[in-house]
Amino acid sequence: MKQGIGIFEGYVIAKTYVIQPAVMDWTPQEIVSDRIEKEQQRLQQAVDRVEYSLQQMHNLAAEVQARIFHTHIQLLRDPEWIGEVKLRIKNKQVSAITALFDVTEELVQYFNEMELRLLKERLSDLYDVRNQIYEALMGKEKEQIRLDEPVIIVAEDLTPSMTAGFDLNYVAGMITTGGQTTHTAIIARSLAIPAITGLDIALIPHGKLVILDSYQGLLINDPTAIEIQYYQDKLQQEAVNKKKLEVFIAQKTATADGHNVTLALNIASSDDTRMVQTVGADGIGLFRSEFLFMNRTHAPSEEEQYETFKKVIMQAKAPVIIRTLDVGGDKIIPYLHQRQEQNPFLGLRAIRLCLQPSFLSLFKEQLRAICRASAYGKVKILFPMITTLGEIKEAKALLQEVQAEIAQQSIPFDAQMEIGMMIEVPSIGWIMEECCNEVDFFSIGTNDLVQYMMAADRTNEKVQYLQNCFHPSVLRMIQSVINTAHAHGKKVGVCGEMAGEKAAALLLVGMGIDELSMSATQLLSIRKIVAEYSLKDLEVLSKRVVQLSTAEEISEQLKLFISDV
Ligand code: PEP
Ligand code: MG
Repeated sequence: MKQGIGIFEGYVIAKTYVIQPAVMDWTPQEIVSDRIEKEQQRLQQAVDRVEYSLQQMHNLAAEVQARIFHTHIQLLRDPEWIGEVKLRIKNKQVSAITALFDVTEELVQYFNEMELRLLKERLSDLYDVRNQIYEALMGKEKEQIRLDEPVIIVAEDLTPSMTAGFDLNYVAGMITTGGQTTHTAIIARSLAIPAITGLDIALIPHGKLVILDSYQGLLINDPTAIEIQYYQDKLQQEAVNKKKLEVFIAQKTATADGHNVTLALNIASSDDTRMVQTVGADGIGLFRSEFLFMNRTHAPSEEEQYETFKKVIMQAKAPVIIRTLDVGGDKIIPYLHQRQEQNPFLGLRAIRLCLQPSFLSLFKEQLRAICRASAYGKVKILFPMITTLGEIKEAKALLQEVQAEIAQQSIPFDAQMEIGMMIEVPSIGWIMEECCNEVDFFSIGTNDLVQYMMAADRTNEKVQYLQNCFHPSVLRMIQSVINTAHAHGKKVGVCGEMAGEKAAALLLVGMGIDELSMSATQLLSIRKIVAEYSLKDLEVLSKRVVQLSTAEEISEQLKLFISDV
């Protein structure tokens, strides 16, 4: 039995399909000066061949993958990489392959020295494209992987060009070594494929029956008959539970005594919007717009953002909360040239970055795109990581400026679009009276609120034990935010991970939360459990637990109250 980290939850009993890393069989080679031009041409032909095949894959792929192929095409056109390879052939008089590997390694070394996790993960893009150019230079045909039964794919990182080559319907599970933000992780989540990371895959044999339990991050090799039976029962139970939840798709979310709660979805791409209908969500509670800026080499234009927002709004047919660019922290966008910081989560993140003079035009472009899209349905704008009143005032002033501009250009937009701010930084949670004068609604980002209240980096495994939303100070802060907002007639939602956890969601309902926003995979089970309790009982529960002194006592009380957690 091996322990890894779950990427997407589920159980799988299937054979492994190990994809070995590509073999790079070449030796450094010098060339005579007469061959320089020929080698440069050979390189260009290989690059053209790869671009053609990437373009084909791009045209056939779903949005998440298409965006990745787009990045790869951009890489091929990058003068600092391929341009440099061409120059290297001439300046060092080496073969195209030698120049390609040398220049790529130098780039990789540069990225590594920058010590940015996200950047490092994007190195897999660089290697993926390099390997394709190498194969084209060697005249190799792309190896096709043919799957004819459900398997668990085992690979260091499944590159997009690999996944485009096989039928994803046969991919029952995935095991990789990359982090949680690799392409494999992105694809696994977007296609709901159970996956784990963090295992030594060299020890996993090919074609052997295994059990993957990504709820617990477990891989069971050579399972016994008893283990297989145990997991078959679990799979059956999972299927029965899923089926039972389907009756909730068409229902409103309400407690047993009829108190309604809005349940919305967190999304990161326009592809995810279809889930609104699939699970019967009340709308999009958080569109993380920064994902439009990731996995690419330059910022999306106003037009591209506008088209994406419009598509989401029209497809959702329900209110959509668009959060403005929230980069920084662990979301580093290389082409935005964010400076390296000692403590990035305490640095120029989200609204702080957007309000920097050098970012204003980019920020205003996004605001324009949101305003223009607001003509097509109910859109609310949400500003992340507000720490001071000054920031929200500045953001609103920019929004007004943009609205005045587009009004002057007779471009349609919703002049009544609601403005909200995230409560993620403790400093703002204690000046709610003043905030109520500034915005129409609030959304509590508990992932960050907990990180900042507990002074525990949310990406640091060593302090995960402090990442506890049941700490009484977190709960009392949330209760105080809800009370003050309600006293001023303003609504409050929670869009952090806390909203999708059963016990936490019940507690939040008892505290008076208006909206819970979560991933599509959680929504129906939250709707179901909310319906099992009366608001009256949940209010009593929440009043009692916020007075307790430790997170442990609170969790204990919740366990006693709720049989299902
Ligand atoms: C949060 O902080 O809870 C949140 C929803 O924002 P993100 O996870 O994108 O920082
Ligand atoms: Mg946040």
